[in-house]
Amino acid sequence: MLYADYVVIEWMVLPSFTDSLWGAFHVLAFNSVLFLAFLAHLRAMITDPGIVPMHKNNELTKVRVLPMSDDDYSDESDTDVFLKKPSFVGEDWSLCTKCESFRPPRAHHCRICRRCIRKMDHHCPWVNNCVGEFNQKHFLQFIFYVGILSAYAIGLIITSWVYHDHYGVTGAKGPYGERAQHTKVIHTICLTIESALFGLFVLAVACDQLQAIFNEETVVESVVRRGAGRIRRRPAKSKYELLREVCGPGHWSLWVLPCTSLTAERDFVHFPIDLKNMNV
Ligand SMILES: [Zn+2]
Ligand SMILES: [Zn+2]
Repeated sequence: MLYADYVVIEWMVLPSFTDSLWGAFHVLAFNSVLFLAFLAHLRAMITDPGIVPMHKNNELTKVRVLPMSDDDYSDESDTDVFLKKPSFVGEDWSLCTKCESFRPPRAHHCRICRRCIRKMDHHCPWVNNCVGEFNQKHFLQFIFYVGILSAYAIGLIITSWVYHDHYGVTGAKGPYGERAQHTKVIHTICLTIESALFGLFVLAVACDQLQAIFNEETVVESVVRRGAGRIRRRPAKSKYELLREVCGPGHWSLWVLPCTSLTAERDFVHFPIDLKNMNV
């Protein structure tokens, strides 16, 4: 991406728009979007995706050993076992067999993080983090900005060749001769390939993400569902409501800004004793 920035500014914008305000405008605009993309990437990387807190082992063995020691599985022992669960655990929660933590309904286990993640979408090597309930918004923002950057870069390449000045800095008849124009051609090819690859890739990811959000399921859940051969159920909520769930309750124009955080707004409603229970 830094390469794209260098090529766009040094070879496309500056030579073509030297004597107009458009040059300054494009440099400013392109770098602003680049900055927002970096910011969204950073947020997606450092935001807790919604890690389900791990429980202390003694607390857990109590829950699991009790029914074994009791030979008769009467109703009484059942209620006993249930009470031993941590107080914040709802009835629809399940116990993960891999990391042995109680998790809310839509949490999934990530093999790379070795933890259960709330509404886990996928583990993203790009952001070196899981994409889950709390950072999916920033992941979407990152995808969005990279898409804009790719389209913007291609647009600038086209305009710079439309306004190509044969007597300018990069022109064949300019002060630096044909070599400058050859370098510009090489940079154009590289940047076009880079932008097209990134652009198509984020377009595919964005379609996948939006489809999953509108179906009210995560990418993990849609893979599981397709594997089981089930038809998707129609979500009861409107598309706008579903997007709101991922991007937060603010006005839709705030969704694209990578500065608000979901964790603060939702305040871990399901984990009243969250911090004390963290085992990290
Ligand atoms: Zn787990
Ligand atoms: Zn992960």
